[in-house]
Amino acid sequence: MTMPMMKPPRKNPVLRTPQINLPPSARGRVALGLTAAAAEGRLALQTCAECGAVQYPPREACHQCLSADLPWRTQSGAGELLAETVLAHSNDLFFRERLPWRLGMVRLDAGPSVMVHLHGEVGTAPCRVQIGARLDRAGQAVLIGLPEQGTANMADDTMLREMASDPKYRKVLVTDGKSPVGQAMARALVKAGADLVWVGHAEPWKQLPGLAELATLPQVALVPLDVTDERSVAELAGQIGGKVDIVVNTAELHRSFGIAARRGTDVAKAEMEVNYFGLLRLAQCFGPALKGRAADGATHATAWVNLLSIYALANFPAHGTFSASKAAALSLAQCLRAEMRPAGIRVLNVFPGPVDDEWNQNLPPPKLAPAALASAVVKALKDGVEDIYPGDVAQEWLERWRDNPKVLERELAAGGT
Ligand SMILES: [Zn+2]
Repeated sequence: MTMPMMKPPRKNPVLRTPQINLPPSARGRVALGLTAAAAEGRLALQTCAECGAVQYPPREACHQCLSADLPWRTQSGAGELLAETVLAHSNDLFFRERLPWRLGMVRLDAGPSVMVHLHGEVGTAPCRVQIGARLDRAGQAVLIGLPEQGTANMADDTMLREMASDPKYRKVLVTDGKSPVGQAMARALVKAGADLVWVGHAEPWKQLPGLAELATLPQVALVPLDVTDERSVAELAGQIGGKVDIVVNTAELHRSFGIAARRGTDVAKAEMEVNYFGLLRLAQCFGPALKGRAADGATHATAWVNLLSIYALANFPAHGTFSASKAAALSLAQCLRAEMRPAGIRVLNVFPGPVDDEWNQNLPPPKLAPAALASAVVKALKDGVEDIYPGDVAQEWLERWRDNPKVLERELAAGGT
């Protein structure tokens, strides 16, 4: 039974913020297959194409037949806890700060025996256990043993919180509350127990639908923020940068059409100003503050969320310049992820399909409801994953893109179906 996490007391401003220590993060190239699946919330293991053996730890060749054909296959993770122990001492700085730490040996139903971090709600050995692959603070995959039936508070387990970015009791900045997605995001974060949600709005003098109602929530505070204006971003970072635990960048400019339907570059520039340079400005102003507070108590700074688009993977000519701006933002988000990783801050990239908003009015369904997108983001924060593709369209496009990007390019050029 996990004790529910209590709201941490206010920080003593005189105390120095500790520096972060990360768990060991060196992995060979083969082992990164485990990390790639864990980044999407899946447990995948090498499965021999020749003899069907499932193996762990990852190796270059099959342990049974020496075949090198070892595709990664998603596993159920069900298994039996054989033995357990509790670490009371560690020479590793990360674990030394977090002792005692529970470990177990599990035989997976799929075959291999694995060493896992063990959630506090898993019973004593022998018992059934559910293995999952999670990203740790260093952003690398680790295996964790979870109870088959968890209690309502199981996410409050300190081990699990270390591997996730739960918004509970945290302070979040949603960069743009003008859009239905931004507003749904703020509501979802409040519902998830966020302590405070700052909601940016670029034009505070305008009465925007929904925003005033949102501001009546006690956890929500509207703040002026125009991501196209460096001074505006810097001013807000100066005011709240040292308190933000999670940044959710919902600022987005979306116009239809590709190249030939318009003259000039004004619209494309405006899209880049928000979708690409906006992210760059935010990252420059808020990134260092987040990194500096990555070890600041139980509700330390933890994550950065980018609202991208499935069109970032392959250009959808009907929304051609928008797709290009999102592709640029994706590339920059990968750079941000690399720079944030040494501080243990997770960058979550969100690739939704068409959202049910004013710029997709002419697009036939299925379209993703803003509230569904927002709950997918909150779930991803709680699960600690890196990439999500919410909605049926995004899922289908992702599959087609993985199968053959060139075929998808031709299909999108022909109208997207
Ligand atoms: Zn084999």
